[in-house]
Amino acid sequence: MKVLLIYPKYPDSFWSFTHVLPFIKKKAAVPPLGLITVSAMLPATWQKKMIDLNVTPLQSFDIIWADYVFISAMYIQKESVIKIIGECQKHETKIVAGGPLFTQEYMDYPQIDHFVLNEAEITLPLFLEDLSSGKTPERIYQTKEFPSLNRTPVPDYHLLSQKDYVFMNIQVSRGCPYSCDFCEITTLLGNKVRMKETRMVLKEMEALYDLNWRGPVLIVDDNFIGNKHVVKNELLPAMKKWMVAHKYPFTFNTETSINLADDEELLNLMVETGFKSTFVGIETPEEMALQECNKNQNKNRDLLESVKTIQRAGMQVSGGFIVGFDSDTPSVFQRQVDFIQQSGIVSAMVGLLNAPKNTQLYKRMEAENRLTKNATGNNTDSSMNFIPKMNYHDLLAGYHKIIHDIYDAKPFYNRIRQCLINYRKPGVAYRKKEYKYVKGFVKSVLILGFVDKGRLEYWKLLMWILIKKPQHLIDALVFTVYGYHFRTVYGLRT
Ligand code: SF4
Repeated sequence: MKVLLIYPKYPDSFWSFTHVLPFIKKKAAVPPLGLITVSAMLPATWQKKMIDLNVTPLQSFDIIWADYVFISAMYIQKESVIKIIGECQKHETKIVAGGPLFTQEYMDYPQIDHFVLNEAEITLPLFLEDLSSGKTPERIYQTKEFPSLNRTPVPDYHLLSQKDYVFMNIQVSRGCPYSCDFCEITTLLGNKVRMKETRMVLKEMEALYDLNWRGPVLIVDDNFIGNKHVVKNELLPAMKKWMVAHKYPFTFNTETSINLADDEELLNLMVETGFKSTFVGIETPEEMALQECNKNQNKNRDLLESVKTIQRAGMQVSGGFIVGFDSDTPSVFQRQVDFIQQSGIVSAMVGLLNAPKNTQLYKRMEAENRLTKNATGNNTDSSMNFIPKMNYHDLLAGYHKIIHDIYDAKPFYNRIRQCLINYRKPGVAYRKKEYKYVKGFVKSVLILGFVDKGRLEYWKLLMWILIKKPQHLIDALVFTVYGYHFRTVYGLRT
């Protein structure tokens, strides 16, 4: 059997980092982990080809070669999915689809032959069994069960063109113990945190190491510290030991809930293991909105101080912010700007509230007759899929003001300064690997220091760094390139 695995293209968005990639001669930020994991579950005798459209264009002869095309996609890749389906139909190649987009919205794709939905550890073997027994496979394979991750194989990392990616990625756990009402993670993966055994995580790190990967590794978990006890007492000590033994070949980036700040021992262990940054869902500094969306872990705490605690421990913090809650008033826009600026969160993703399918928020909006369409999954396209309480035009104007007030060159460079004041640079050995992008840094100085309209603020920042924080020069240069991407995505460069 010949299988073509296709990963659809991402549009230009906050997380695509499209405008950073040319500086460092990369084509995509992260590889399609779900698809290469599914690939590793296919029979060893099958021939497999992988095409990530973010890296390689799709050619007709690849589709003609294949008996089946496998697609995995998220909401944000919808547009590319439609094009892939069209190409496959043209060549009459059967499609098997899975991943979050199809698990939530398979009914919108009548052209697709087979759906392997939810988690592939359960549904893919059923499809394969039917196929090998000579039966015509069912159209839909679904399950309400959540599998143990001990059945998950090491992903087929060898199918990737490593040099084209900024990060490699691994998954350690699925599920989240919290229940934020706008979040689809718990609908898709459950409230119980399921972790891979520590030996399996080490095996994946070893696989990347053996393929000669050196550099950043994204741990894609939605909440890496969902099971704090195991992470702190088993996983991290083993990862740290491995990292020391292998002379810190990787740096780790991940996503955690804000209560990471409450556990100094855990924080220090993460830093000593090589964790460089974490994304935290802050959402809003408004207590009523946190109450409304059931973000209990963020309530009744000094959120600003929590962010600073993580930064002081030696990890950079990126964050998600939302406006459009029912309880939001016009003062929320300035409150968000003030919080983001004071926190020194350089990569602050601010979005309008949306209700993805099957979430608690979706159900509430449906009951209140406020739904208007499906969520796009793109946090930067200014869309909402329900009628907000605040006048939509006021909400949109306030949202755009936040974006301007945090991403225009002056406030953005000020925020880098704030970040570097808060952040304590850890002394672990991985830092030296940052110098491999030196050519990219030179290019960034030429563009941001001489061409970009924010060049005056750029030089002011560089002078400040060289005088006050020379040890942070590389971090600052990386942040300035992020800023170039964000200003481009938000249309603030003209
Ligand atoms: S903490 Fe994050 S992953 Fe967990 S439910 Fe809330 S938004 Fe979703």
